[in-house]
Amino acid sequence: MTLEVVLASHNAHKVAEFQRIIGERLPDVHVLAYDGPSPVEDGTSFAENALIKARAAAAHTGRVALADDSGICVDVMGGAPGIFSARWAGSSAGDEANRRLLLDQLADVRRPDRGASFHCTIALVVPEALTAGGDEFVAEGRWPGSLSYEPRGSHGFGYDPIFEPEGREVTAAELLPDVKNAESHRARAFTALMPELARVASALA
Ligand code: IMP
Repeated sequence: MTLEVVLASHNAHKVAEFQRIIGERLPDVHVLAYDGPSPVEDGTSFAENALIKARAAAAHTGRVALADDSGICVDVMGGAPGIFSARWAGSSAGDEANRRLLLDQLADVRRPDRGASFHCTIALVVPEALTAGGDEFVAEGRWPGSLSYEPRGSHGFGYDPIFEPEGREVTAAELLPDVKNAESHRARAFTALMPELARVASALA
């Protein structure tokens, strides 16, 4: 039997990406877009923010809900920008301004002290109406690497042009999308999530 899960995001690309990755491994799980109200993301960690979003979508729809929260963490900055990655250069700043500010802040830091990693947390929330007491699960993925000195590459988005994955001499924006999608923090979080999603799917089938 098909399980429909709602993804707490208004981004159609993200819904398609989740559907593709989940559908490859769990063909009976269908991902639906969420069109309800967005909660204030006032958590202090990726996990808290992912849970806030997934809980809101589960409560609003009565369905199993997924949400992700992600960002880049720079070692020498104590893990910043972290949960503030999307608005590092200001609440209306775009990717270019965010990248430029981060490179400026690291201007005097040389290798090997430019370590950084992408993080992704995916939260899975099963509402109480579907299972006694409800159920919550959080999966983490980390993609280690370092910051480049200048942006390079035209694929991807966000901080991809200034992030060099460990073991590679190219930025994430120079990787073909399929290669990035197989290695990334998001792929790693999905791998950690899949057994739990499979368990929920078979329990509710
Ligand atoms: P979210 O949409 O709240 O998870 O914010 C994620 C932010 O982190 C984005 O705006 C990007 O700046 C950054 N980010 C997360 N994942 C990636 C990635 O795969 N590549 C580049 N930037 C990313």
